[in-house]
Amino acid sequence: MSVTVVGSVALDTVETPSGTNTEGLGGAAMFFSLAAANFTRVNLIGVVGDDFPKEHVDLLASRDIDLEGLEHAEGKSFRWTGKYHDDINLRDTLDTQLGVFETFQPKLTAAAKDAKYLFLGNIHPALQLDVLSQANADFVALDTMNLWINETREDLEKVLAKIDCLIINDEEIFDLTGEKNIVRGARKIQDMGPSIVAAKKGEHGCVLFAGNQLFSAPAFPMAEVVDPTGAGDTFAGGFMGYIAQQDSVEFETLKKAVIYGSVTASYTCEDFGPERLKEVTPDSIITRFDAFVALSKF
Ligand code: AMP
Repeated sequence: MSVTVVGSVALDTVETPSGTNTEGLGGAAMFFSLAAANFTRVNLIGVVGDDFPKEHVDLLASRDIDLEGLEHAEGKSFRWTGKYHDDINLRDTLDTQLGVFETFQPKLTAAAKDAKYLFLGNIHPALQLDVLSQANADFVALDTMNLWINETREDLEKVLAKIDCLIINDEEIFDLTGEKNIVRGARKIQDMGPSIVAAKKGEHGCVLFAGNQLFSAPAFPMAEVVDPTGAGDTFAGGFMGYIAQQDSVEFETLKKAVIYGSVTASYTCEDFGPERLKEVTPDSIITRFDAFVALSKF
């Protein structure tokens, strides 16, 4: 089964303790798509400007990604600049230039509408609602950020009431629910709508809440993190890609999807932008998945 993603395709400038990457390929929907395409066909809905390098489009086109929904608009592409601290878990956003993303009105193609699985990337919740009204998906997952939680809460609550799964980190859980404890926070989120909550804890892994069932997975241990930008979106791509490939939202599938999400995200952290992720194959993901199973089994 195919999966549709709506979100940013960007040019990212990133500084980490390992170095600087200027105007590299970025964007939440881009990381999601490259990850999910290892599992299933992806319909990418997004927008880029007329300054967007052709080589980036060619890279995406070389994968199982339908780019009919990637709009090419007049103007500048979305640009994001971030700087990481020596503690790589901390980062500051230095600049955000919305460019053509500012007036982005997502329009789903026929294939995108008909996909059974939909991922609403981190965009204004009013746009997420609009996409939801265009789609025929059976299973919808969503990502958000502190900006929308704090500034557009009413719209966010409307969209939360309509979706199946929220992928969220511990800080966002606190902003959304006032709970520092992720178990209590996730339960509160389930009361807002999504029966499934994937609560990410950065280098400490992920806890999955599905109805009243619970699964806790460590993160894949890594000696060096070069650039964690997009790791969350890559996690979502591996998670949703596996679910769509298996065409199942049974608890056993969801648990494996968390591990596939973590494994795929570990590649993103190994180099700047999608430099490492783009080299990954389904076979290498399976090999790392098996290694992950071995190291967390007791
Ligand atoms: P993450 O590291 O998972 O937070 O994702 C970082 C990616 O999100 C980068 O590639 C950025 O281009 C993109 N991004 C940053 N800010 C925004 C925003 N306000 N809306 C959409 N995408 C964004």
